[in-house]
Amino acid sequence: MPIPVPDNISPLDNLLPDEPLLMMGAGPVPIPERVAAANSIVINHLGDTMADVIEQVKAMSRYVFQTESRHILGVAGPGSAAMEMAVVNLVAPGDRVLSICNGFFSSRLAEMAERAAGEVMRLDVPAKESASPDAIATALAEHRPRVLTIVQGETSNTIFNRHLAKIARLARERDCLVIVDAVCTLSTMPLEMDKWGVDAVITGGQKGLSSIPGVSLVAFSDRAWKAISNRGDQLRHWCLDARLADQFWYRKSYHYTAPVSGILAMHEALRLICHETLPARFERHLRCSVALQAGIEAMGLTLYAPPQARLNSVVGIDIPPGVDARELLRYMSRRYRVEISGSFGPPIIRIGQMGEQSRAHNLFRTVHALGSASKALGAEVDLPAGVAALEKSLEAFEFGDD
Ligand SMILES: *Cc1c(COP(=O)(O)O)cnc(C)c1O
Repeated sequence: MPIPVPDNISPLDNLLPDEPLLMMGAGPVPIPERVAAANSIVINHLGDTMADVIEQVKAMSRYVFQTESRHILGVAGPGSAAMEMAVVNLVAPGDRVLSICNGFFSSRLAEMAERAAGEVMRLDVPAKESASPDAIATALAEHRPRVLTIVQGETSNTIFNRHLAKIARLARERDCLVIVDAVCTLSTMPLEMDKWGVDAVITGGQKGLSSIPGVSLVAFSDRAWKAISNRGDQLRHWCLDARLADQFWYRKSYHYTAPVSGILAMHEALRLICHETLPARFERHLRCSVALQAGIEAMGLTLYAPPQARLNSVVGIDIPPGVDARELLRYMSRRYRVEISGSFGPPIIRIGQMGEQSRAHNLFRTVHALGSASKALGAEVDLPAGVAALEKSLEAFEFGDD
């Protein structure tokens, strides 16, 4: 045997920390017990039980996406695979595409459209601003795109495109298909696919939905599906071909072996959302994120995004003066077992408020870890003031318990 068995391989238990880390970064996020349990099960991907599971996943997704669409597909892959599925099925070679770019992830949509041989015009949104409907109206008139891509929440720099409904309407008036990346926002804040006239909504598992990474969802409108059905050319992608995926998701037939465990986990994540209901879930996210922001500011740190363009699902914080961001994150992780994220663009650190992250006890632990670690590394922060502001802000919302 020319290749020997590797030595020094440790069991997983030796690699993982004794105490699990609290995942408060920009994803993956903590998962509920039931999601974890479902993820440990393997069943027949084409059996009757799986068929029942798929029917329920689609029914619950229609609620979560707020759509009556009969074209909701699961993808074995990251949020990016769902992005690519939306893009490659809706952008045929030579199609004009208008990509609204706020940062890293929205630019990824533009890159995918270019790779799909679309004729892409990028509209770069100025830093710290939401995409402007006026600027987009002008670009729509000039470029006359067949497809527009946009992100609801730009996770990388914590910018929120708050005029999404209006932007979708402007595009629709010009007969332009709208692709929305809602990976970090779906189920954390309103997104009404049908009412707003969105043609493709993308989400991943490991952020807003609080499921596992690796299984994602994409919902297509009837208008989008018509465009997909009428396409004359053959897609270069086989796994991401929506018409082939339809075989599994709507015809109980085989496309590829579905990630059964991940779909069972997704089922449980969606069921917990339906149980909580969207209005209660949106309120919980808003209350927690606003309180976290109040705590951070009271501590003496600065939020990156101005209030009018600030995303609540991921909170961006300027790096405390005099502190090395990587050292800060390492310190928080080692000393307090709290993980937050560094930058994917501007020099900030980021705390997620998606799904299970938006729980009062997680906020206190995170604010404490951030404040205490910043102080230890030489920043001037008032940790007691931060904790007090967090407490006060949480109390000011009188509804719900957590
Ligand atoms: C995380 C994220 C993605 C990419 O998801 P992956 O699962 O990492 O592929 C895309 N868009 C947004 C807005 C995200 O937050």
